[in-house]
Amino acid sequence: MRVATTFSGIRFQTPNSHNRTSDPAQYPYFYRMNTPAPTLSFWETSTWLRPDVIIVGAGIVGLSAAIHLKAQRPDKRILVLERGSLPTGASTKNAGFACFGSLSEIAADLESLSEEAVLSLLHMRWEGLQLLRKTLSDEQLGYEATGSYEVFTDQQEDLYQKSIQLLDRFNAHLHQLTGIASIFNSADDRIEALGFANVRHLILNTAEGQINTGSMMNALLQLARSQNITVLNGVSVQAFSEDEATVKVLTDTLGELQCQQVLIATNGFAAQLLPELDVQPGRAQVLITDPIPNLKFQGCFHMDEGYFYFRNVGNRILFGGGRNLDKAGETTYSHQTTSRIQQALEEYLRNVIIPNTPFTVSQRWAGTLGLGATRLPIVRQIQSRVFCAVRMGGMGVAIGSLIGKDAAALLLSHDQ
Ligand SMILES: Cc1cc2nc3c(=O)[nH]c(=O)nc-3n(C[C@H](O)[C@H](O)[C@H](O)COP(=O)(O)OP(=O)(O)OC[C@H]3O[C@@H](n4cnc5c(N)ncnc54)[C@H](O)[C@@H]3O)c2cc1C
Repeated sequence: MRVATTFSGIRFQTPNSHNRTSDPAQYPYFYRMNTPAPTLSFWETSTWLRPDVIIVGAGIVGLSAAIHLKAQRPDKRILVLERGSLPTGASTKNAGFACFGSLSEIAADLESLSEEAVLSLLHMRWEGLQLLRKTLSDEQLGYEATGSYEVFTDQQEDLYQKSIQLLDRFNAHLHQLTGIASIFNSADDRIEALGFANVRHLILNTAEGQINTGSMMNALLQLARSQNITVLNGVSVQAFSEDEATVKVLTDTLGELQCQQVLIATNGFAAQLLPELDVQPGRAQVLITDPIPNLKFQGCFHMDEGYFYFRNVGNRILFGGGRNLDKAGETTYSHQTTSRIQQALEEYLRNVIIPNTPFTVSQRWAGTLGLGATRLPIVRQIQSRVFCAVRMGGMGVAIGSLIGKDAAALLLSHDQ
């Protein structure tokens, strides 16, 4: 539910007053609201702040939407506003899996979605990855066609049986979708060579790969800037208000801006501006080890219906997940890591992934997922000039560029 508040005499839509008095960590962008409106020069206003379209959020979706919009309409002045000095959601925090779904994840999805809906998700992820690889080169993405494995421990025989029985059926579906035969393969014979302990089964996916997340986002940002798209960091959008001819956008550091259309691409933070949407934040924690001499594996690995995931980065291991261990605690906007999840990750490393190998953790971090009742993203019109493209779940690397493109098409179809 939203209430209207006034600022500079204008009625703005903001999240309700209950939210405004909540924990600062949850709603950080309200805390500078009393900052006086800045004095801007004529040059600043006329050069950067006369947009036709404002996109809120410079993650993969916001930047992709800007790039596709500009490609269709080079005459449009597009301004992307990002509240962090770097993007502060998921796009620069993720694990860099170029993935579309492990069999245990597919099995879990089939419990709540029809087979048709699951196939359409797989299709969207596959198409999204192809589009990302068309928009940026494999070199810019740091793309490596490593393949991936799903790992089943000794305790997960039931989960394995549920998954392996889908193998032939989904190989046939994916063959139709991708043109690639036999994407999933049983690979138990590789367990020993990969050096794992307490692992009973492996399923190989031949069509997944990994990217360098930093290179991908840097290249996307450079592409946007090369197309004359303005991206401003350190600007938090706090509210918006639409009238017949324009949308007024209230920011913390630039005061009030006006434009013709707004796209909200804030993913896990969407409910802060649009509380009526079914989007919850999901903290996703990660660690990366220091280099491990003679690391025995390369590529991406999924475990436990996608709740755990690890990969090599050179000879380091990046390992993330564990949100299922404390779902309530991990439903937060905070990026603090917790000892509960981090210890669970370390135990997996010690007991399953690199048994008998000493390691040290080099960095720990967390990002924010956008989650909801289903895994489907929300791309839709909110008001006649305001749109959203949010709730990417755990697969935004795969679907982000496609969703950005869809959002651009949606804005253009309502261009007045
Ligand atoms: C730890 C982790 C691992 C992941 N691993 C993978 C993976 O391996 N493969 C995969 O496909 N996906 C993965 N994901 C998911 C993927 O990263 C996301 O789905 C995707 O990046 C979402 O992109 P986005 O642009 O929608 O959102 P974001 O990247 O979250 O961008 C939203 C931006 O909006 C900004 N913002 C929010 N509110 C405001 C405001 N009021 N004003 C201005 N700016 C605002 C935020 O600062 C943020 O930068 C992972 C995510 C995490 C967190």
